[in-house]
Amino acid sequence: MNGRPGESEKGGADTLVRRIAEINNKVARALSRSDDPHREVGLIAVSKTFPVEKIRDAIDAGLPSFGENRVQEIVPKYEELKGQKIEWHFIGHLQTNKVKKLLEVPTKYIHSLDRLELAEELERQLQKRGELREVLIEVNTSAEASKSGVVPEEAMELIRKVSRLSSIRIKGLMTIGALTEDNEIVRRCFRQLRDISLQVRDESIDGVEMSELSMGMSGDFEIAVEEGATIIRVGTAIFGDRYSPVL
Ligand SMILES: *Cc1c(COP(=O)(O)O)cnc(C)c1O
Repeated sequence: MNGRPGESEKGGADTLVRRIAEINNKVARALSRSDDPHREVGLIAVSKTFPVEKIRDAIDAGLPSFGENRVQEIVPKYEELKGQKIEWHFIGHLQTNKVKKLLEVPTKYIHSLDRLELAEELERQLQKRGELREVLIEVNTSAEASKSGVVPEEAMELIRKVSRLSSIRIKGLMTIGALTEDNEIVRRCFRQLRDISLQVRDESIDGVEMSELSMGMSGDFEIAVEEGATIIRVGTAIFGDRYSPVL
């Protein structure tokens, strides 16, 4: 950095404004290279591990959407920031026994619905609350065993089954690209997600919309946008390095 006076607060609102502008420029350029250059691409700021103060800086810098991957983290952050006009996304692996707690947060999307058992618990808790929620189906496109997500071959069947649950609305798909320097492998993940969403669309399943493709993180969002992302989830490129890499 160039160390101008007044810029001592690394990661403060000014730094964030600059980083966000950079991301927006890259998104705009990637969009222009994509098949559907006029669509909107939503930016979710992934604030996991960062304190609420950083989220306030990001709100000041104009960001409206935040993503968290742990129930025990999103709930207190939501409570502390209640009253702010922001939207919350749950993007992490979700344990069935944490569903009830998560629903205390009025999530925009839960991005990580990846198994029927989880959907059934979600349905049960939503019925108790008399609510509907919008979700994305997480697909494991990288074949990395450590990752959550339904395997691609079982995505359609899961979507059919979840579509019969009356309190859950499927809005699209989510994936985490392979963690590799090889851009072509990463691109294949995103292409596969898009292909699955087109197949699902062809089936015209009642109550299922395929309007969202949530894919792309700090290291690969440009590829994701080229391949059709409508939502990117960006953490470190906005907030700087996390002390420990938490997925
Ligand atoms: C942490 C995380 C991100 C953001 O990762 P960065 O590399 O910091 O941009 C996106 N999606 C999910 C599911 C995550 O857990």
